[in-house]
Amino acid sequence: MAEIRQLDSHVADLIAAGEVVERPASVVKELVENAIDAGASQITVEIQGGGMALIRVADNGGGMAAGQLPTAFLRHATSKLRTAADLAAIGTLGFRGEALAAIAAVARVDVFTRERGALEGASLSLEGGVPGRVEPAGCPEGTTMVVRDLFFNTPARMKFMKKDTAEASAVAGVVQHLALSNPHISFRFLKDGAEALHTPGDNRLDSAVYAVCGRDFALGLVPVEGSGEGVGVSGFVTRPENGRGTRGMQVFFVNGRLVKSQLLTAAVEEAYKNQLLKGKFPGCVLHLTVPVDQVDVNVHPAKTVVKFVHERQVFSAVHHVVLDALERQGGAAAQTAPPGQPARQQRMAPRPDFYRQMDAAAFRGAAGKGERGAAAQAPFVTRVPPADTELGGRATVRDVFQPPRPVPQSGRGQAERPLTAPPAVQAGPQPALFPAEKAETVFPRREAPPAAEAGGPRQEDPLRQAPGGETPGQTAMTEERPAPWRLAGEVLRTYIIAEDGENVWLIDKHAAHERINFDRLKAGLEPVVSQALLTPEAVRLPPEDLAALLERRELLEEFGFQVEEFGPDSLLVRAIPADIDAVQTWETLEMLAEKLRLGGAADPSAARDAVLHTMACKAAIKGGWVSDRAELQALVEKVQSGAVRYCPHGRPVAVKLTRYELEKMFKRA
Ligand code: ADP
Ligand code: MG
Repeated sequence: MAEIRQLDSHVADLIAAGEVVERPASVVKELVENAIDAGASQITVEIQGGGMALIRVADNGGGMAAGQLPTAFLRHATSKLRTAADLAAIGTLGFRGEALAAIAAVARVDVFTRERGALEGASLSLEGGVPGRVEPAGCPEGTTMVVRDLFFNTPARMKFMKKDTAEASAVAGVVQHLALSNPHISFRFLKDGAEALHTPGDNRLDSAVYAVCGRDFALGLVPVEGSGEGVGVSGFVTRPENGRGTRGMQVFFVNGRLVKSQLLTAAVEEAYKNQLLKGKFPGCVLHLTVPVDQVDVNVHPAKTVVKFVHERQVFSAVHHVVLDALERQGGAAAQTAPPGQPARQQRMAPRPDFYRQMDAAAFRGAAGKGERGAAAQAPFVTRVPPADTELGGRATVRDVFQPPRPVPQSGRGQAERPLTAPPAVQAGPQPALFPAEKAETVFPRREAPPAAEAGGPRQEDPLRQAPGGETPGQTAMTEERPAPWRLAGEVLRTYIIAEDGENVWLIDKHAAHERINFDRLKAGLEPVVSQALLTPEAVRLPPEDLAALLERRELLEEFGFQVEEFGPDSLLVRAIPADIDAVQTWETLEMLAEKLRLGGAADPSAARDAVLHTMACKAAIKGGWVSDRAELQALVEKVQSGAVRYCPHGRPVAVKLTRYELEKMFKRA
């Protein structure tokens, strides 16, 4: 029988280290939290080689006495917790006394510290948890921890580390969150010698948000402040018209601690109900103060799960405080849009290039007419700054790269496409939309228009006579090939209603167009065409998103994206696929990153599908956009041909109601 023995302390330390120290980002989190607990007002974080080579965290906090220095690195050594009763009322961040021991066990650590008011400081070096001697040291007040060669003695762990860029992104994420939760502290973050973040530490959350999230995000925010049910809620949320493509910019803190919580997400999103476009999410930075005995203390330092004792109260407080804030700021939606019509929907609609007459080859030919190639020609004007955001405050990376841009005449925030310059509706079929194949109608021809059966005013051919400003060109199209179905109209700016003989069809216009795009892309019949952005766009993304995109850079290039790393938290986008409107650059990358993270991280074919899905979706018209009749007809034709049944996500594109089903509903049958 195996002998039962107590682990020696080194092995125990290594096991504990595995829990606390997963990667460089977790080391940074522990060290910075110690600095915060020590009362620092300035914290500098520096990393080299993604933090694997070096992490340095320097603070101007209280420091440690020389005699205490070795004790700090013992397991369960803490100055923050003395009795079990203290656990319930924890105010500090660290409390298990485990972090320093765990970090020291798997790295080479040097610490320099000087207590406030002390004449001199002290230093200590440890290697693999084994301390050297405490030496006197001349150093400033506060503490500097230097961690080198992380996991040098645990090669198995080393193998789990991602590329330096991914580890660096994770560290950046940690520092950003800590900076957002501590606006009273000035944070500096240096990556391989370059400053990547500097917050002022002026105790204003908006300054911290500006520094961390960037100007675009910061200037579109509504302040939130209030309380209810014993829960305090403060911070910022995005305006309804500034919805984001994912939930990546939702940041919640509970009593200063970063948490992930579906409850909080739902509470915020509920406040935006009917104000956001489908597929859009609010962004927010919200601080909650909840009585400590009503939150389940998150005992695992690496996790961000939170459990509230009174969930309903927390939900209701967050929901109402955010709703109040949105209502108070009047909502651009309420001011500029007709009743029931969010402003954004109007501004977005419809894509000017829907009827683009060019296929990929024609596009290339046209673009190549000048001396330079398509990419160099930069045929499209890039995104337009929102009209209401005058530059204020400091410049960001984007300012450096984006000179003032022309604003389209329409003022609808659309990109102009001088090469294709289509009129609102063009004549003829739509080769650019469905270039891969011609629609073949497989449905039986209608005997007589139902309108005639119903005894209404007879319409010879509804397609020819459809009201609504169709051009002669369109009439010509229908003369060539009368369809066996009739487009009845559109409802909720999302669903097309059509009929053929005995059936009524409801078609989701976005889903249909998305499917068509997806099939076309997947078939790979056309060459990939890229459009160079006139001015490269710096897109700021959460660290995980950034890492996901950088890892799949080659795949992205294959599909016409050109991106490169740009600072610790941004991508510089130089080109995107020609099918996608340049105003959607950032949204597209956000969506792409999310899909890659969720589905396509490991498997190349899943990654490829993630890219295809995103491109298909972003190149499609959207529910909520205004579509003209010819656009709808083109979609009905394709759906009626039987080629399109389900959207790439598996949702149905069209729903059929038979005459019999309708008659049953009305109790006629
Ligand atoms: P914990 O933070 O849970 O107490 P740690 O292992 O992280 O455990 O730290 C052990 C102790 O070392 C802390 O309780 C604190 O007294 C001291 N310490 C660590 N970092 C600092 C720092 N930056 N400034 C001052 N004291 C520190
Ligand atoms: Mg600690």
